[in-house]
Amino acid sequence: MKILFLCSSLLVAQDFDLVLRGGRVIDPRNRRDGRFDVAVKAGKIAAVEPSIDAARARKAVDVTGLIITPGMIDLHVHVFFTAGNPGAWAGDNSVQPDAFSFRTGVTTMVDAGSSGWRNFETFRTTVIDRARTRVLALINIAGFGMISDATEQDDFNPDAIAKLAEKHKDVVVGIKSAHYQKPDWESVDLAVEAGKKTGLPVMVDFGFFLPQRPYYKLVTEHLRAGDISTHMFRGPVPYVDEKGALYPYLLEARKRGVKFDVGHGGGSFVLRSAAGAIKNGFYPDTISSDLHTGSMNGAFMDLPALMSKLMALGLPLQEAVRAATSTPAEVIKRPDLGTLSVGAPADIAGLRVMNGEFGYWDNNTGRVIGKERLFAELTLKQGQIVWDWNGRAGVDYRTLGPTYGIRPGIDQILPPPAKR
Ligand SMILES: [Zn+2]
Repeated sequence: MKILFLCSSLLVAQDFDLVLRGGRVIDPRNRRDGRFDVAVKAGKIAAVEPSIDAARARKAVDVTGLIITPGMIDLHVHVFFTAGNPGAWAGDNSVQPDAFSFRTGVTTMVDAGSSGWRNFETFRTTVIDRARTRVLALINIAGFGMISDATEQDDFNPDAIAKLAEKHKDVVVGIKSAHYQKPDWESVDLAVEAGKKTGLPVMVDFGFFLPQRPYYKLVTEHLRAGDISTHMFRGPVPYVDEKGALYPYLLEARKRGVKFDVGHGGGSFVLRSAAGAIKNGFYPDTISSDLHTGSMNGAFMDLPALMSKLMALGLPLQEAVRAATSTPAEVIKRPDLGTLSVGAPADIAGLRVMNGEFGYWDNNTGRVIGKERLFAELTLKQGQIVWDWNGRAGVDYRTLGPTYGIRPGIDQILPPPAKR
C-alpha cells in the first residue's frame, strides 16, 4: 500500500513550485483581505485561492499567523554606497541594498536621487545591476547628485536626464530635486521640466523652507499630478490650524493629484505633524524610509516599524500596507509590482503583528506608545525565499539523514582514527 501511495503521488503533476498556506492575505490592488493560500510558479504568482492543496506544489510553507502582502516597495532610499564620498548621502551614508531590503520585507527600492545625470551610469553598473533587490532610480536634476549638498545647488540639466531616462527606461522611474538652499524655484522647476520631457514623476525634498518659496506653493502650483512631495511630516510643513483643523491647501494639492510621501529619514519626521494629518484622515499616499545609515539606526529603524508607528497614530493596517505596496507601484508607473495578481512577479512579504506595548520616537525627541508592532518574518523575491526569520521553509533536521549538508561528489566525511 505504501509503495502504491508513493507511486501515485509521484504521478500527480505538480502545478506549483511553492505554496504559502494559512496566511491572511492583504492585497490592496485586488481589494483582498482574508484567509488565502498563495502559489508561485517560475517566479510569478500562479494562484491565490481560499485553499490550495499542499500536494499541488513541490514545496509548501505554513505561514499561519502571518499577514501576507505584496513585497514592499520603498519609494525613497539611498543605496549609492559605491560613490565613496565621506559623509555624503551618496557614499558612506548610503546602504548596500541587499544588506537591508529583504530582512525588512522590502523587495523593491527606489533610490531617490543619490546619483545625478553625470554619475547615474556609475550607479547603475556598480549597484543596480549587481543587487538582488530590485533597485530602481530617480535621477537627480543636479549633475553629481548627492555626493555633497553643495553639488545639489546647480548644474541642472533636463535634456541630459531625458536622454538617460530613455536609455535606461527599465530602471529610471523619475526625477529628484533635493536639499536646495536658494530662495528661488530653479531646482524644482527644472526637475518638473525634466518630468515633462520624460513623462516621469518628480519627487521633491524641499530643502530649506524659505519665505520666498512657501511650501503650499510647491504642492498647489509647482508640482503636477503624479509628482511627489517627500518628507511630508517634516517639522515646517503646516498641517493643522490652532483649532486642530487641517489646512485646506493640503486637500487642494491632493485633488490636483500631488502625492504625499513619508520619507522618514533622520530628522524629517515629526510625530506632531503625522498625528495632525492622520487624525484628520489625511493619510500618506506612500510610506517610505529615506533609508541611509543614519535613519536605519535612528527612529526610522525599518519599514514595518514605520508602518507600526503610523498605526499607533491611528492609520489603519490596510492603509499602511497599501501605502507600502500598491500605491508606490502606481506612483512609479509599475503596476506589475506591489500586487499579488496572478502573473505578477512573486515578490511577497510575510509580516507578523506583535501585540504589547511598543515605544516609537521621531528623532526630534517626540515619543508615542502603540499596541502593535509589525515585524518582517518572511520575504520572497521572484518566487525565491530570500528572508526566513523563523526557518519556516526548513524541515526537522532529524528527518534529513546522516549526509545532508555534504556536497555529493565533492565532500566526504573522513572519520578520524579511533586512536592518534
Ligand atoms: Zn533622501
